[in-house]
Order: sequence, then structure tokens, then C-alpha cells
Amino acid sequence: MCKQEEKSRQQLAAELDQLTALFDSCQDHIWMVDRDKRLVLINETGRETCRKSFGTEPKLGMTTAELTTPEFLDDWDRYYDSAFQGESFRLCHPAKDGRVHSVTVQPVKAGGEIIGAAVFGHDISEQYQLQQELRRYEEIISSTPDMISLVDRNYVYQIVNDAYLKNYRKSREELIGKTVRDVVGDELFERISKPNLERAFAGETVSAESWMEVPQMGRRYLSVTYHPVCDNTENPQHVAIDVRDITALKRAEADRQRIFEVSLDMLCIAGFDGYYKQLNPAWTRTLGWSEEDLKSSKLLDFVLPGDRDATRAALERLFKGEQLVGFENRLQCKDGTVKWISWNSFPDLEKQQIFAVARDVSGRRTLEEELRRLATTDSLTGASNRRHFLELASAELKRSRRYGAPLAVLMLDIDHFKQVNDSFGHDAGDEVLKKLVDCCLQTLRSSDLFGRFGGEEFAALLPETSEQAALQTCERLCQELSGLRIRTHRGEVRITVSIGLTMLTGSDQDFDSLLKRADNALYEAKNAGRNLIVKH
Ligand code: GH3
Ligand code: MG
Ligand code: MG
Repeated sequence: MCKQEEKSRQQLAAELDQLTALFDSCQDHIWMVDRDKRLVLINETGRETCRKSFGTEPKLGMTTAELTTPEFLDDWDRYYDSAFQGESFRLCHPAKDGRVHSVTVQPVKAGGEIIGAAVFGHDISEQYQLQQELRRYEEIISSTPDMISLVDRNYVYQIVNDAYLKNYRKSREELIGKTVRDVVGDELFERISKPNLERAFAGETVSAESWMEVPQMGRRYLSVTYHPVCDNTENPQHVAIDVRDITALKRAEADRQRIFEVSLDMLCIAGFDGYYKQLNPAWTRTLGWSEEDLKSSKLLDFVLPGDRDATRAALERLFKGEQLVGFENRLQCKDGTVKWISWNSFPDLEKQQIFAVARDVSGRRTLEEELRRLATTDSLTGASNRRHFLELASAELKRSRRYGAPLAVLMLDIDHFKQVNDSFGHDAGDEVLKKLVDCCLQTLRSSDLFGRFGGEEFAALLPETSEQAALQTCERLCQELSGLRIRTHRGEVRITVSIGLTMLTGSDQDFDSLLKRADNALYEAKNAGRNLIVKH
């Protein structure tokens, strides 16, 4: 070999070394096989890839059957054969180690002839994974009625779900690649979308709710949540925007609120802790207390002390899940008056709340009480009327018989009352009757019964009273009544009364027999000259 040749050979070798170094430093993996499918060239990244993907140590001259693991062999045979046919193509190759490579297989030509196939590839695992993730998101979000989109850091739509397209009446092609600004318009973007997106890209989950004028959709009440999506990096690369159209809900809520405001009934929500949580204005209109007054004390504090036990018991039933319909109690108003309230209440055990509709029934209660008073008392004197007296008396009689307690009954009649009317006038007579009732009620005990039987005739029942004590009471009555001085314009009226007294005996079956005896005794007192007490 001549010197010249030796020199050019050395030069070539040096150049080849340089090329090999360059080849080996290449990030892509590269190898080449000849038509016998023997490895003729491979760079350092290629070796590394074969180790990881196939688990083999590549050596030049090796056949692809030796290089490639059996599970991938058929695939690779097809790739090489296609390249030998002159086809060049790209494929995605999942490797043994779970990485994914983008691989190009190309025919290698020399002098117009295909002499082998070259393989170029690089690791696309990260992009592949991201894409898979995006696809997963897409699947999840396509099924929800919420409008969901995914935007990148340039606010460009990457994904939109079907609900989104439906609401905006756009096709996917019209949205993907567009910016949020393009879609929602400058005003909405600057005012709402941009500031919230900026916060989300800073890592915060942002929720916002408001009325919005949305292109294609009109005025809607939207609840929007911006979720940062971190992918595999620390900073969010995407933000998922979840838009929920709650216009219908909001309108229904507004209607409810209006009804709540204008209702004449008092509506409230109270907690199981005994405090009012929500009250409509009817409360203040009805009771005079401000909302703050009512919320700052327990609801039982507004109940009249006499009704608290019953109210507490009613609340206990509600706490157990029972509904309460038509429960009535009295509430204290701010001006010192008292109002009767009828309640319909429903518990919500889950939320530990009570919903209640309360109505001021004071008018009805007053009327009822007035009716009861009219039905049970005598309108002139206010004393119990005959019917009511008899009702109470027969109950008292039963009690006395059960306990074997003594009981006295007396009938009382004004002497010569006709003359009072005749001499002083009917009005004076009325006045006498009223004064007599007052005087008798003061003289008798509160446990005694007293009633007007008609005209100027009265009856009294004295429970747990011995004959001696009853006689003493009769004497005191006679004394007090004869001491009465009723002034009229025709002069002073004075009266006396006659009293017939009787005691309960073992043979008395009902109150009639007692009354009859007392009446007979009274008759006897009259006959004996009046202003007398006779006991039968
Ligand atoms: P006696 O001593 O026998 O009881 O005689 P008396 O006059 O009291 O009895 P009499 O039954 O004869 O008369 C009862 C009178 O009572 C007749 C009636 O005018 C009068 N009187 C009955 N109810 C009322 C009333 O509501 N107001 C007034 N002013 N008088 C009444
Ligand atoms: Mg009389
Ligand atoms: Mg009489």
C-alpha cells in the first residue's frame, strides 16, 4: 500500500470516527438492517432502546430474530418487509418498559436499489401519556350535563364536551383551537374569564356565580368553576372550566324568595338547636320583634311561660321526625301584647332543621274565647250561667264522691226583689244583681263554684266543706250582702237574701237530688219569713 493510500485511509477513518461520535450523540435511536435482516448499523441511543424495549444486547451482524423479542418479532418482520418493498412509514411503538416511541421505518437505497431498512425513533412517552389523559378526560366529561372545557395556558380550547357544543350551538371544529376570548366575547372575557383563569393557572380552584349575558345563550345564571389541571408538571398546564347553567334553579329560588317575602303567614326555618335561622318579614309585621331580635334568642324565649312545656314537648316530637299540624301557643309581642299562633311544622332530620308556617290566630282565638264566655256566663253579671254551673258541679260531685269528701250546695234568692225594681227601677235592680255577684265571689273561696240560676236566684257549690263550715259561709254571705249599699238616684238600696243549704249524702245519685233539697230549704226559708238560712 502506498503512502498516499495510507494517508487517505487514515483520513477516512478519522472522518468515520467523527461521524460515529456524532451518530452516537444523537437523541433519536437509529439502526439499519440489510436485506438479510442483519444489523449493520446502530447508534448509542439505539443500543439503549434495544436493551430497554427488547431486553437484548445488540451486536452488528445479529439477525432481527435475535435482536427482537418474540412478542414483537412478527410486527417488526412486517415493518422491514414493507420497507424492502419501498414503503416508508411511521408508527407508535409501545416498548417492553412501558415507554412509547414514535418510530419511522424507511428503505435505504444505493444506486437505485433497496439495500436495507433504517429505523429512526424517539421517545414520545410524555406526549402519549398526556394525550391518553386528555382522551380520558374527554370520556368523563362527555357524559355530564355541565359544560366542560379544557383550555391551555394561552386560553385556547383543547377539549370541549357535548353539552358545551349544544349550548353554544357550535361544532367541535369551531371551538377547538379558538381562545376563550373568541368564544365568550371581549367584555365577558376581560371582566370574568381572564381574572379567574389567571387565578386557576396560579394553582387555585376558583368558583364564581352570576348572571351573564352569554353569546348564543342569552341571559343565564351560571355557576362556573375553574380547576387547575397539573398534568405531570408542578404548574397547571391546563384549566378545566366547569360551567353549570342554574338559571332555572335561580329563577325558582327568586320566586320562592318573593313568596317568602310577601307571605302573610310567618315562614321560618329553625335549627334543632332551638334558634331561628331564617324568617320572613311577616314575623316582624306580626310580633313587632326585628329579625335580629328573633334570631338572637331561643325561640322558646318568645313563648309565654305558661305554654313553654307544651311547646317543648311539641319540639321534641319534631326532633324525632314527626310532623306537627295545628299546634297552637302564645307568643310575646314586642309591645307587651300576646298573640295566639298556630303552627304547621315539618322536620328535616338530615339538615337538623324545622320548616314552619306559623299563623296569627289571635282573632279566631279571641272570638272563640268570647263565644265560650257567652256560652258559659251570664251577660249581666259575668257569673257562670245555669248550664255551665251544672256542668262544673256534676264534675265536682263525681270527684267528691270518689274521694268521699264532704260537699255543700246552697241556693240563694234575693228577698222581695220585685220591690227593688218597683221602687228604684230596673236599672237599679240590675246594679244590685251585679254587686251581689261581686260580693259573693269575694266571699267564697276560689275553689267554690257560683252561678246565676235565673232572675235573682243563685247557686253555689262548696267542695271539701263540712256542714259547720258551710253554715258559717252562708252566714257570712248573708252578712256581707245585707251590708251592701247600692246608691241610686232614688236613694240607697239595701237587700237581704234567703239561703237553702244541703250536704252531699251517700244516697245522692246525681246533682238534681242535691239541688232539689237546697231548693226546698230555700222555699222553707222564704216561708219562715226570709233573711234566713235553712239547712235540709
Ligand atoms: P221573694 O222574696 O219571694 O223572692 O220575692 P221576690 O220579689 O224577690 O220574688 P219574685 O219571684 O216575685 O220576683 C222576682 C223579680 O226579680 C221579678 C223580676 O222582675 C226580677 N228580676 C228577674 N231578673 C231580673 C233582672 O235581670 N234584672 C232586674 N232588674 N230584675 C230582675
Ligand atoms: Mg226573690
Ligand atoms: Mg226568685
